[in-house]
Amino acid sequence: MSKGFENPSRVQFDPDGYATDTLALRAGQSRTPEGEHSDPIYPTSSFVFSSAREAAARFGGEEAGNIYSRFTNPTVRAFEERIAAMEGGERAVATSSGMAAILSLGLALLKQGDHVVCSRSVFGSTVSLFDKYLSRAGITTTYVDPTDLDDWRAAIGPATRMLFLETPSNPLGELTDIAAVAEIAHANDALLVVDNCFLTPVLQKPLALGADIVMHSATKYIDGQGRCVGGVVVGRQAEMEEVFGFIRTGGTCMSPFNAWVFLKGLETLPLRMRGHSESAQILAQWLEQQAGVERVFYTGLESHPQHSLACRQQNGFGGVLSFEVKGGRDAAWRFIDATRMISITGNLGDAKTTITHPATTTHGRMTPEDRARAGIRDNLIRVSVGLEDLDDLKQDLSLGLAQL
Ligand SMILES: *Cc1c(COP(=O)(O)O)cnc(C)c1O
Repeated sequence: MSKGFENPSRVQFDPDGYATDTLALRAGQSRTPEGEHSDPIYPTSSFVFSSAREAAARFGGEEAGNIYSRFTNPTVRAFEERIAAMEGGERAVATSSGMAAILSLGLALLKQGDHVVCSRSVFGSTVSLFDKYLSRAGITTTYVDPTDLDDWRAAIGPATRMLFLETPSNPLGELTDIAAVAEIAHANDALLVVDNCFLTPVLQKPLALGADIVMHSATKYIDGQGRCVGGVVVGRQAEMEEVFGFIRTGGTCMSPFNAWVFLKGLETLPLRMRGHSESAQILAQWLEQQAGVERVFYTGLESHPQHSLACRQQNGFGGVLSFEVKGGRDAAWRFIDATRMISITGNLGDAKTTITHPATTTHGRMTPEDRARAGIRDNLIRVSVGLEDLDDLKQDLSLGLAQL
């Protein structure tokens, strides 16, 4: 490991051989000659050159170096290096949001006539992106049951170039066997993309399981404190060069301010993910015993139909759980409104616990039939378990339970 300070934008930490917890703190760190300990931030749109000759060489690609922050920025680069190391990928490319990550993947790696097979239990805007916008570029999408390998196999055709999934799914925690779907993808010359937003590299490493590309909404656990919107894509050099080429031209780049916040977020990500998981496990088991609760969805529960897959492919079960209460929409709303501390919001992955009624918010734009097919019932409540004291959380949820 070199500790040299010669170039402020150079990465000075060799991540090889270090564990995820260490990489979260150290990978991608750079230091200016001032010797600051925290990551420097470069809020600049453009960079200057020492001569006209140097400018020409940089623009011509003969010399490496920064030109303009839509292309590269040292703070953004530091974030990319850190998350790439944590996911075990060759290279990462940061984007302005999680949706920008998926859009950039679609436009960089797919073309007219290509076909995507996608889990039907992905983030709502992901479905809209494929169906309303990427379809205009002549890219078609077929949706499958994420838990059914035969469904994945059956949906593949000669034009299939990409398989896309999110595991565990939101809000029901359905799992997809990443290694098995990777095999299906590769047998058909297609790429497997995994949205690893819910578990992060701390609790799940899709690339090690055979996926080709991992993407994130950094807005969720990577920030972890609800401050910034951002995204990132991680994978092999060849595909990431294509994605970078699109972002550089298409402008779906991350701002240096946000990259700095996400760098700070990554430093505490391992600790937070273990805290979220530990509390969610205890609350899931506790909710399962409550008379007003009909069913709890959490991959850490033995009652979860894919609990053994969760144990095999995850290093933990994450912070998001959901449950059905006795009664319908009114009972669910009464429960939510009775809590005093927990935040009512559609966001998740925050250090503060959040509560959501999926059927009328995050999944409210689906038709009732689609919602029924997806298993999102009116009595379903989602909780993204935060880092507050467990007894305080139980007490707040008890106010909701008393309404049932
Ligand atoms: C939030 C989310 C996205 C979209 O990310 P944005 O940063 O909001 O654009 C994509 N996938 C999952 C699983 C998400 O939760």
